Parts: sequence; C-alpha cells; structure tokens
Amino acid sequence: MEYDQYKRKTCRYCDEPLGEPFLELGVQPLANNLPRREDAAKPEFHCPLAVVKCRKCHLVQLTHSVPAHLMFDDYLYVSSTTQTFRTHFAEYAKDVRGRLSQKQTPLAVDIGSNDGLLVSCYDKAGMRGIGVEPAKNLAAEANRQGVTTLNRYFGAEAVKEILAQYGKADAVSANNVFAHIDDIQGVCRNVRDLLAEDGFLVIEFAYLATMIEKMFFDMVYHEHVCYIGVTALDFFFTKFGMEIFDITEVDTHGGSLRVFIQKIGGGRERKPVVARFLNDEREKGMLGDKVYADFAARVLGFKTKLNGMVAAIKKEGKSISGYGAPAKATTIINFCELTPAQIDYIVDDNPLKQGRLVPGRKIPIVPSAHLAAHPTAYVIIFAWNFSKEILTKIGFLREKNVRFIVPLPEPATV
Ligand SMILES: [Zn+2]
Repeated sequence: MEYDQYKRKTCRYCDEPLGEPFLELGVQPLANNLPRREDAAKPEFHCPLAVVKCRKCHLVQLTHSVPAHLMFDDYLYVSSTTQTFRTHFAEYAKDVRGRLSQKQTPLAVDIGSNDGLLVSCYDKAGMRGIGVEPAKNLAAEANRQGVTTLNRYFGAEAVKEILAQYGKADAVSANNVFAHIDDIQGVCRNVRDLLAEDGFLVIEFAYLATMIEKMFFDMVYHEHVCYIGVTALDFFFTKFGMEIFDITEVDTHGGSLRVFIQKIGGGRERKPVVARFLNDEREKGMLGDKVYADFAARVLGFKTKLNGMVAAIKKEGKSISGYGAPAKATTIINFCELTPAQIDYIVDDNPLKQGRLVPGRKIPIVPSAHLAAHPTAYVIIFAWNFSKEILTKIGFLREKNVRFIVPLPEPATV
C-alpha cells in the first residue's frame, strides 16, 4: 500500500506492537505546510491521520509517522505572534528559575525553541538560555534577535556541542515538542546525558484527558504524534531511570500540563499531585477502551453538525469566512471536507501565512484587514483557543450583522 512505508508498527514509548486505531480522520495533507497560491495545482503530500492507544503503556499516538524533514524544515508557526504566548513564557521562565534558586546563573536549554521566545525569557529571568531549533528560518531569526540558538535537531551531536561549550544543563525544557518527535526514546536518552544530576526536565503538552473531555480532536495532525496522559508518561520515564516529581495545570492550548521530571535520586520529593493524576486517569477509564470509542463517536457527530450548519447558511445564500489558520484548522477543514465554495477565505494575523492556501482544501489565507473590508455573514473561528482575543478584535463587525461560530467543543453561534 501507498502509505505502508509511513506506518508505525510499534509503540513510541514501549515498543509494544500497535493494534487498530480508535479514530480515523481520513487521508490528510500536512497541517502546517501551507501551499503558496501559485502552487495551488501542485500535488501535496498526504498520509492517513488516525489515532491508536497502546494496550501496554496506554500511550495514545498516531498510526503513521511522516518524515520530520517534510514537516519542520520551513516552519511557519511563530510563537511570539500572540500576547498570550509572550505572557505565558515569561511566567514559565520564572517558574523554572524559582525551582533553581540555589544556583547562580543556571543553564537552561530549550528544545524546539522556535523563534526563541522562551529562551529570551530565560535570559531575562537571570539564567543562561540556549535554544535548539531545527527550522532554519526560525533559528536564524532567533540568532538575529540575540537569542543563542543551535540550528539542529536535538540529538547526540547537539548535546555534545552544548556540553563542550556550556556544560551540563540545570533545566531542559521541551514544550509541545515532546508530543511532536517520533523517536522520543532517543530524545530522552539525550536529555539524560545533558542534564546535571540535580537538574530537571520540564515539558508542557496539551493534556490527553482535556482533549477527550472537551472534544479537542483538532489537535490531531501529523506533526503531533503523541497525545500524552500522565499514566503513559510515568511508565515511560521510569524505564529511563527518571521520575515525574511535579505537575501543574496551565491553560495555553485550552488545558495543558507542565510536568517536571528528574533523574531518580535527583533530590526532589515526588509531590502528591502525581499520584492524584494517576488515580484520576484510572478512574476516568483512560486505561480502557470505551472512553476512546465514545470520543470517536462524538467526533463523527461534530462533522455532521458543522456540515449541517454550513449547508444551512449556504442554502440561505449567505457567505462564510474563517478566522485563524493554525494546524488545527487544517484538521477540521479537511476532516469536514469544507471547500472554497463554502468558505470564501480565512484571515490570519501571521504575515508568513498570508497569500498561502489551507492545505488540501486550498482555501485562500488573507490578512485580517480583508475581513473588515469584505465582511462575510458568518465567521468560523478556527483559532478557537484565542476566541476571546479574536472576538475583542473583530467584535465591531457585529454592527454589520456578522455572526461568529466557535467550532469546539461543539459548533455554536456566539
Ligand atoms: Zn506503549
């Protein structure tokens, strides 16, 4: 079969052979590879997008792995584009600094540092920040801004380079990255080599339980290979001689966890919150199968409902646009098979995305000024996790009778 070469045979955490997926979202294009308008006719890479749970360690993960170089070499996502992220990472850096109060100027390494926002916050919080970022354009931009960034994949070579130049790291951070890397066992070994004996790893990721409960199925896309719960994570780190010692809840992507991990014997006490998460997941049935089957049924129900709303609006002869072209928009638009005949355009504030097309369905992406100049009757807010910011910004369009649809957790007009 065409896609067999990308099929993942074993669990990314524990090497157990994988079974059948519980959720299938169709054969989808790469969510962040936005074709340029002039390339509209060129074929795009596609691959099945489906999710399976490991029966041994319970890690929820994609059935297929797309080669990293196809996804990450020219990455359009720039984290600094929203105030929410800037505030978030400033607080994050202070949290990390506060846990290293005994150190003078601790070394903090951020893996997948993007445009260097968190690394710059480490510097400001009184640490020595180093970023590691494989996307050439982002690493170059970070360095231009004075943020020390190695343009590399995080591997043995990168670790060697950091150890030689700066020594062992007191903190290593990996935000969302941890869910994005196929060979996570390799990453974990490298993190262990890089970390000081009393150092810690901090990872932040969208929490599996929230995804299930709040129906955030649009966080499923090819770059996002793992959907992490504490049970699977605990199993994973134990295998590498490490342990989770603290967990805090954060709200970036509508329900994320920040998890702190040390080498066993790292000197910090394991806080009771860790056992609480493990118990909660067991009680919620996240180690079984029913929760996931129910989730998949609700996802199919979502498609029926959104398509019904769109069809009804079009039947009245009214126009629809979208707000925000994040990866999650690609998932919803391709899963629901929305077309440029239904959605006239999508606005996005990221200038790198403007003039491009939504992968697969080829809906044009334009600057937000376009919406003010050519308002549609309805606007679907695909970047729903920023809907508060967005509604503040474009709420004035209500005077022109524009109505807004927030797609998740259930399509609703607001
Ligand atoms: Zn497993």
